[in-house]
Amino acid sequence: MKQAKKQTNSIKGFDAHCHIFNLRYLLKEAKEIFFTWIIGDYPTAEKFAFKSDAEKQKIKEDFKTKLIHLVELLSATVRSEKRNFRFIQNQANEAWKIKVGAIPLMMDIFYIFAPPITEDDTDFFQTKSLGANAFEFNEDDFEKEYAELAKKIVAKVKSKAQKQHDFSDIEKELDQHLIEAVEDSEYKYTTKSAEYGNLHLSSGFRFHMDRLRKMVHQGEPIYPFFAVDPRREGIFDAIKNKNLISENGPFYGVKLYPRLGYHPLSKPVQDILDICIERDLPVITHCGMSGFPPKDFSFDGSGTWKYNDYGNPKHFLPAVKKGLRIDFAHLGSVDPSYKWAETIIEYINKYENVYSDLSCYTKTSELKPIIKKFWNTDKVKSRIMFGSDFDVMYFTDKKITYEQYCRNFTDLFPNDIKKMRYDNVKAFLKI
Ligand SMILES: [Zn+2]
Repeated sequence: MKQAKKQTNSIKGFDAHCHIFNLRYLLKEAKEIFFTWIIGDYPTAEKFAFKSDAEKQKIKEDFKTKLIHLVELLSATVRSEKRNFRFIQNQANEAWKIKVGAIPLMMDIFYIFAPPITEDDTDFFQTKSLGANAFEFNEDDFEKEYAELAKKIVAKVKSKAQKQHDFSDIEKELDQHLIEAVEDSEYKYTTKSAEYGNLHLSSGFRFHMDRLRKMVHQGEPIYPFFAVDPRREGIFDAIKNKNLISENGPFYGVKLYPRLGYHPLSKPVQDILDICIERDLPVITHCGMSGFPPKDFSFDGSGTWKYNDYGNPKHFLPAVKKGLRIDFAHLGSVDPSYKWAETIIEYINKYENVYSDLSCYTKTSELKPIIKKFWNTDKVKSRIMFGSDFDVMYFTDKKITYEQYCRNFTDLFPNDIKKMRYDNVKAFLKI
C-alpha cells in the first residue's frame, strides 16, 4: 500500500498514550481464543485427561464466564477507530486550540489465560494438555455457543451505555458488531502473513493491527506502538521486521504489558529488549500498579491479580543501563507510597533515554502530590509526557471529559504543558 505523507506541520501537540480500538477487536479475538481452547490449541497448564463429561462441561462453562468477564472489562469502546481519533482531536482542540497527533498503543489480550513467563523462564513452553480430544468439536455447536456468548457481552455493553446521549447510534453500532462477530469465520484459519514473517496473527489481533496501519497509511498524524507478548509465535521476527516497526512506521515502537503475565527479567523479554536497544526502537511499558485487569481482579476468586508486580520498573534496570529508550507509562500509578514513581524519577535523572507519561490521571488530586514531590528538575520536566489513556480513562472515571482532562493539565502545569505535549513527545519518538 502506498503511504500518504503524514501531515505533521500543523501538529502542535500529541496525546502520547491512548488506545484506539473497539468492541469488534475484542469479539473477534474472544472467538479465536474460545475456538483454540476448545480444539486443544490454547496454551494452558490445566489438565483435562480423565475428566468426566460433566466435569468437562463445567470447565467449559467456567471458561466462557471468564471470557465474558474479560471482554466486559474493556467494552465501553464502540465507535470506529477513526471516529475515536477525531474525538480526541476535537476535544483537544476545544481545550487547547491546537491540532494534535497521538501515539495509540495496540493491545494484545490473547494470552491472558495462558501460563505466565516467570522471572526464571528461559522460554515459553506451550502446554497443550487440553488435548485434541478434550472436547468434541462441532462447528455448528461452536457457532451457536459463541453467538450466545457474544450476545451476552453485547447486552452488557448496551446496558452500560444506556444513559449516553447518543445511545441509539451506539445501539446500532453494537448490533452491527454482533452480526459481524457471529458471521466471522477468520478464527478457523491460521494466518501467518508473508509480509510479517512467522508472526501468528489471531483474527482480532490482525484486525486491530490493520486498522491502525490503515490510518497511518492514510496520513493520519498517529504513531502506533506494536503490542508485543513474548508468548505470541513469531513475535521476534516481527520486532526485527523493518517493514512493520521502524521510524517510518507503520508502527513506531514496541508496547509491553508485563502484568498480562510476562516477567521483564525473563529471557524472552530480555531478548526483546535487546533487539529494541540494537534497533533503537522506543518501548512503552505499562507501569501502573493497576490497569487491565484491575489489581484486585482475579479469575479464580482470590481477589488479587497475580502479575501485579511484573510491571515494577526495577525489573527494567539491566535494559535501562544498556541504553533502552523507554516510557514507563503512568509514572507508577496508583500507589500512595510512590515507590515505583521514585524508581522512575531516579532513572530519569540518571539515564538519558528514560521517559514517563502522566496518562489516566483523571483527578487533579492525583497530579498535585506528583508536582510537589517530583516536579523539580529540568530532566523531569523534559521527559514526562502528556497522555490521556483514552478511552480507558472513560472506564476509570465516568464524569471527566477529554476536554476537561486537557484543561486540568494546563491549569496544573502552566509553564510546562507545551513541553509535555510536544517537545518531550518528539524527543521520545525522535521525530
Ligand atoms: Zn494505557
